[in-house]
Amino acid sequence: MDDHKRELLKNLPKIDEMMLRIERGDRLAGVPREMVKEACRSVVEDLRGRILADKDRGGRFRLPALEASVEQVVAMVEALGAYRLKRVINATGVILHTNLGRSPLCREALERIVEVARGYSNLEYDLEKGARGLRYDHVRQLLCALTGAEDALVVNNNAAAVLLVLNSLSEGKEAIVSRGELIEIGGEFRIPEVMEKSGARLREVGTTNRTRLADYERAVGPETGLILKVHTSNFRSMGFTEEADLQSLAELGRRHSLPVMDDLGSGCFIDLDRYGLEREPTVRESLSTGVDVVTFSGDKLLGGPQAGIILGKRGILERIRVNPLNRALRIDKLTLAALEATMVKYLRPAEALSDLCVLRALTEPREAVRKRARKLAAMIRRAVPRGLAVSVMDGTSMAGGGSLPTREIPTALIGLTAEGLSVAAFEERLRKWEVPIIVRVADDQVLLDARTLDPEEFPVLCGALKAVLGQERDEVR
Ligand SMILES: *Cc1c(COP(=O)(O)O)cnc(C)c1O
Repeated sequence: MDDHKRELLKNLPKIDEMMLRIERGDRLAGVPREMVKEACRSVVEDLRGRILADKDRGGRFRLPALEASVEQVVAMVEALGAYRLKRVINATGVILHTNLGRSPLCREALERIVEVARGYSNLEYDLEKGARGLRYDHVRQLLCALTGAEDALVVNNNAAAVLLVLNSLSEGKEAIVSRGELIEIGGEFRIPEVMEKSGARLREVGTTNRTRLADYERAVGPETGLILKVHTSNFRSMGFTEEADLQSLAELGRRHSLPVMDDLGSGCFIDLDRYGLEREPTVRESLSTGVDVVTFSGDKLLGGPQAGIILGKRGILERIRVNPLNRALRIDKLTLAALEATMVKYLRPAEALSDLCVLRALTEPREAVRKRARKLAAMIRRAVPRGLAVSVMDGTSMAGGGSLPTREIPTALIGLTAEGLSVAAFEERLRKWEVPIIVRVADDQVLLDARTLDPEEFPVLCGALKAVLGQERDEVR
């Protein structure tokens, strides 16, 4: 090591001196000392690393003034207090956007969260009996009434529901499933891997494109614990295909006294083909085939909070309820409050369609979306009168969230091109705005899909466009 480096290392700021400055200046008052000290250490360590890495012998590296390092510490600690999880504006037209929080909650669900979580609640307290109650009981009756199920249980998400059911009914035994249904959902969730973790042994039957009832029948034996059907919610196979229908599988299960499970994934309570969307089996339809247990998400087509809903026969659900894993995967009270409010909406399907964002966005007629797009375009033209080309055109939205994969939903888009700004830079600026705006980029344009935009978001959007483009003009000068 050369003398210059040695000298620099000797002159690194001293933690005690930095702390003294911070405390004397009354900076970061109230923040635990240990945290501030660790931030000081990390700033000094960073400087040390840079000195040691400095290739330039006798280099040009200069130590910053102590004051600058202190400022760095203050900024570091203060940045910890800035929210990183924030609301964004979804202009992508992907309705159930997994990366953007999937399903927004309706107003009542939000109000119920605040009401229930603000103080104490009867989460696990039976007010009639004055004794311990079950948290699931708050939604049990409602779920059963809405779907015709005998019994209901809710957990953290549908992945947890699948894991819990498989573990409860088929641990150490074979779960029979079609090769055409060994699907992956968004990266980490693969049916075969979840089965392995559950302790159930995977018994694949049939082929990728064709699986018949006889294939299941041949696989049934003393090792069988469960027959599993997975709704291939995020893709469709077409052409020379065949699958065993749920009804026949339910009968097969009954003949052999084996439970039959249907992992529906999306879980829909309303017949969507009436609204021009593709046919999704409803939860009630699935249950009416006589299957023993059905699982689905709370935050896909259902339009509620993240949750895994398990419906089915009473005896089977009791076996699931008493599994210790259930305790580990249990639903929390905020979710429960939101789920209850969302389910109440379904008592009047018209209300579910108008008040639940997901259903509203899926079923809104194109003409209404066009009208909103034209309104937004006019607002943008007023907000940014120069340097921005604004057009309105037809396009397609997507359901997303591994639901309704083949249906393109007609929509209206607003196309934006900014003078002297690349589309990539434009997209980035919008994404990094205070209220991040997530857009689509296509044909060298920024596209805003009006289907996933709410008029309440228009002023924010216009403000953002004004700011990010105004900033551009300042930089050019
Ligand atoms: C989405 C999905 C899951 C996982 O549900 P999460 O609520 O995301 O945990 C499981 N099975 C199927 C068929 C799905 O579509």
